[in-house]
Amino acid sequence: MKFWQTRTSKYFYLIAATVLVGVFLFILADSYKSRQVKQSILSYMDNLRDMVFMSTYDSLKKGNMKLFKSHLEEVGSFADVAEFSLLNTKGVIQYSSDPLLVKGIDARVTGLEAPSQIARGDSITYYFPVETTSYCSRCHADWRVESINSYYKLTLSRKALETLEANTLYYHGFTVGGGGVLIGFIYLLFTLYERRKHEEQMQLSASVFENAVEAIAITTFDGLVEKINPAFSQITGYAENEVIGQDIHMLNAGEINLNSYQEMRKQVVEQGFWSGELWNLRKSGEQFAVRLSVTAIRNSLGRITHYISVFYDISARKEAERLLVEMNRIKSEFISAAAHELRTPLSAIMGFAEIARDPQLFGGFSEQQIKEFLDEIYDRGEALSQIIDDLLDVGRIESGKPIELNKESHSLAEILGKVLEFHRIRDQKHQFILDVPEGEANTRCLVDRYRINQVLENLLSNAVKYSKPGTAVRLGCRRQGECWEISVADQGIGMTAEQMERVFDKFYRVDSSDTAVGGLGLGMSIAKQIVESHGGSIGLTSALGEGTTVAFRLPRAVS
Ligand code: ATP
Ligand code: MG
Repeated sequence: MKFWQTRTSKYFYLIAATVLVGVFLFILADSYKSRQVKQSILSYMDNLRDMVFMSTYDSLKKGNMKLFKSHLEEVGSFADVAEFSLLNTKGVIQYSSDPLLVKGIDARVTGLEAPSQIARGDSITYYFPVETTSYCSRCHADWRVESINSYYKLTLSRKALETLEANTLYYHGFTVGGGGVLIGFIYLLFTLYERRKHEEQMQLSASVFENAVEAIAITTFDGLVEKINPAFSQITGYAENEVIGQDIHMLNAGEINLNSYQEMRKQVVEQGFWSGELWNLRKSGEQFAVRLSVTAIRNSLGRITHYISVFYDISARKEAERLLVEMNRIKSEFISAAAHELRTPLSAIMGFAEIARDPQLFGGFSEQQIKEFLDEIYDRGEALSQIIDDLLDVGRIESGKPIELNKESHSLAEILGKVLEFHRIRDQKHQFILDVPEGEANTRCLVDRYRINQVLENLLSNAVKYSKPGTAVRLGCRRQGECWEISVADQGIGMTAEQMERVFDKFYRVDSSDTAVGGLGLGMSIAKQIVESHGGSIGLTSALGEGTTVAFRLPRAVS
């Protein structure tokens, strides 16, 4: 009796048929599942996968080998790769796992339209053309979809290839390694691999979604929020349950976005993508600037079903830009103020010097008059030297160097008396009042006399500059706990609260266009530095139209 006629053989056929049907059903079920996974994540994944791909591609550009490695592990094992490079269509190496190869040329790729491989000695090199997808063409408007925009070059050692698991190395559906196994099993492996790859990508996408520093919101076609990531809550202040189901436009800061919103809607519907800058509102009501990308997700019929909005807070950058513009404006104003400040005393010096050099030319002058001219020259020279000292001080402070002090024990009452006396002689239009209480005359204090004089000079000259002739300027000194408080009070134009806040900023002048009242806006900022380096503090009170009092405190300790 032949084997196939025996009773045992019937069981064998039955088992074999069951196994075959089982394998067949498994393949079918698996490929069905795989297709389901593929379909469910189709639109969502495509976008996020592109993001992941772009970040891997970017990391390759930036030489971030860790991310690059994980990308390579997707196509094989990193350890097996001798070279992985990106070449442009002319064969010039753009990025490579070996930085020394960058800019080198591999002419083999020119005109190559399909993947190809070349065996050389101990290794095999694969060339994969990279086709332009619609995603690429968003940034590369000149690339035609489906045309080849670059090539990947992958070199593996033969030894490495031998150790590779069958069909584990794929790129764009192209099988690189393994082989020699039944077609059905290859198909099964391929399906399993594909599914695993999608699952991994799904996980990767989920982790990108969860861990992204950018806020991500998935909204329905009508703009209702379906899903947000943790960064969304961090940036906007809204918890998940406060936004799910709400209209995403609740973030819109209103009027300020009018033009951008219209442009965004039009472009997203027409081209499926928009990227730009907008103003959003936090839960607290605070406006903040964002860099936003909106991608439309279409179903298999091409209809938009969802939008993915990705944004990050650029308020800090906007603020830095605003400050830069402000600094530039202040710098220009400062340059013209400095030129004016230097030119005024210089013109006077030159004018008086010209007269003093040849008085006959100007109708003759007495010796007394010539002496007065020379005094004027000296005074203006002193003013010039003061401006230059201020500029040097600011330069020093800017470069982070502290103001050097030469502290000695001095009587504050004496310093104040002298500086006030000097102003009385120089300016007879104001009333100068010294207010040092009796019994406090011996106000000894450890100070740098030259520097404290500089502070007083500036406060007194401000009091004079910003008040009408005939008004009083009061210079006072009194004990305040462990400090001496010195104050300069005037009855001048005063300041608003906003102006008071900025008065210690360098280059700040309330009315920078007013060249009739000279100044560079440096005095107060230098005064603050000097007082603080003495361990003291400075502040002011002021009322518009009524006057200003600037007071600073110095520690009373003598040593
Ligand atoms: P500089 O002191 O460099 O010659 P400045 O006097 O303009 O120039 P600051 O002393 O730093 O600069 O003062 C800054 C600004 O503060 C002044 O330009 C002025 O607008 C305002 N300010 C200062 N003191 C007074 C004051 N007593 N009354 C009104 N405004 C004042
Ligand atoms: Mg001043």
